[in-house]
Amino acid sequence: MKAEMAEKVKDFPAKYGRVPHLVVILVGEDPASVSYVTGKAKASAEVGIRNTTIRKPETIAEEELLGIIAGLNADPEVDGILVQLPLPKHIDEEKVIAAIDKAKDVDGFHPLNVAALWQKQPCTLPCTPKGIVKMLKAAGVEIAGKRAVVVGRSNIVGLPVSKLLLDENATVTVTHSRTRDLGEVTRGAEILVVAIGRPKFVTADMVSEGAVVIDVGVNRDPETGRLCGDVDFAAVEPKAAVITPVPGGVGPMTICCLMENTIECFLRRM
Ligand code: NDP
Repeated sequence: MKAEMAEKVKDFPAKYGRVPHLVVILVGEDPASVSYVTGKAKASAEVGIRNTTIRKPETIAEEELLGIIAGLNADPEVDGILVQLPLPKHIDEEKVIAAIDKAKDVDGFHPLNVAALWQKQPCTLPCTPKGIVKMLKAAGVEIAGKRAVVVGRSNIVGLPVSKLLLDENATVTVTHSRTRDLGEVTRGAEILVVAIGRPKFVTADMVSEGAVVIDVGVNRDPETGRLCGDVDFAAVEPKAAVITPVPGGVGPMTICCLMENTIECFLRRM
């Protein structure tokens, strides 16, 4: 995807006078957020997208952050605006996301983009769910008619990926922390997407032979201190038809889709 996008972006200066411009706002010094923002800058460089990262201290007032967003909304040379989440507690995340111009909302989190997704209208798709469906298709996984189980119902992963799988004609079950006998449900999955944020939570007995397993989780393994997913990879991998690793898999696909969304927003504006 990156090579294809780089090839496309190369022609933009001649065609449109400039390349797409993504602005990432990072508030505070959370190490995970810093590493995500660095990854986004690196991918932008690889694809040829201009990337500006605005770093602000954790103490920034909500008003100041909203002012920065208003300035970026009005700037004709900015195509994508991304506020790295989570934000400090004194800032209203929903208000900040809603303040971003829908046309520059490369994360697809703006309420109007969310509404458009659920109404099957043209919109910017959220990066992680978009990447998951792209990855399934690229791996040749037939989605239509399959029993898909999504573990987790967050606004950024669980719910939108459920909707995208439904749009691909899977039969989708959404599960969460109040689901009774989760293993019974996940064992029925032909496609299992796990996004809960609990290290190695999904064990081999929760997965059926031949299942397609997508692990969205990014956690620290309490035993080794290394990055690990929500799925116990070593135990589940022998049973799965295909499975995504952590690190790797969903994370890099998410960043690729962010690049793609930035290009799409740029082209729509052009
Ligand atoms: P949230 O914390 O917003 O949501 C977690 C969801 O998991 C909730 O719906 C919760 O249920 C459910 N859940 C929690 N515990 C259980 C349990 N024991 N059994 C069943 N369901 C449970 O998380 P996110 O969706 O934001 O993120 C999930 C994971 O994915 C995290 O590790 C995050 O870091 C990672 N992530 C990775 C991305 C990537 O690019 N690779 C992108 C985004 C996230 P309930 O609603 O009932 O509370």
